[in-house]
Amino acid sequence: MDFRFLDDEQENSRGRGKMRKRMVAALVFLAAAAAVAGAVYSEVRGPASAQAASASESRSSSGAAGTASQGSASSRAAGEQPSSDWRLVLVNGSHEFPENFQQQITDYYGVKLDSRLIPYYGAMKKAAAKDGVTLWISSAYRSRTEQKALFEKEVRANRAKGLSSAAAEQAAQKTVARPGYSEHNTGLALDLNGVKPDFDKTAAYAWLQEHAAAYGFILRFPKGKEAITQVSFEPWHYRFVGPENAEKIKASGMCLEEYLQQAR
Ligand SMILES: [Zn+2]
Repeated sequence: MDFRFLDDEQENSRGRGKMRKRMVAALVFLAAAAAVAGAVYSEVRGPASAQAASASESRSSSGAAGTASQGSASSRAAGEQPSSDWRLVLVNGSHEFPENFQQQITDYYGVKLDSRLIPYYGAMKKAAAKDGVTLWISSAYRSRTEQKALFEKEVRANRAKGLSSAAAEQAAQKTVARPGYSEHNTGLALDLNGVKPDFDKTAAYAWLQEHAAAYGFILRFPKGKEAITQVSFEPWHYRFVGPENAEKIKASGMCLEEYLQQAR
């Protein structure tokens, strides 16, 4: 579905009420059609593509134990998924991307992401544009293999600085997630507008702070939550959790880990 084409059409029809209404109706219809197509697609392709992904990608055997004692109030095993809602899948330093998670990875203007969030992102991008804010996706889905390459590159860079291999790996984990432990493995995380550290000074960031939740997205690594997320503030990284969850998380002021903990 070409959202940009529809955006342009809408721009051109500004002021012509009838035409505009027709375009909105067409958009709603297309979004509904996409949702149905997505559901059908998942029936056909979901399990197969998940199998292919886990078969073709080598799993990291190091450090899977993570922080076993963290969250000791719970009797659940470390790394176990706290929610059965696919939109709330938890992937972080101690929760590996679940092998049985059924993804629907698709191409979207040169990036890969889960097709189920396209109608939401498309609507958000369009609403932002109306307010004069441009949103674009720098990267979204990364396979385990791609994550492995990123991680190993970081380890090599650290070794080149003279660190031992153990120290180089440890240092690498502070900036790059280990393969299987990156939220980008889910296809539900988006890095927006070029991954710039000063993105929080932009109008786009301010707009997202106000509106992203309505479209189902949360700022995944907020300032002040570093001790819980184990990731530094990333103003560009947004995670799809669905509008209902996103609004609740936003209202609570919690990060995803806290929200999932209290929802138990
Ligand atoms: Zn990211």
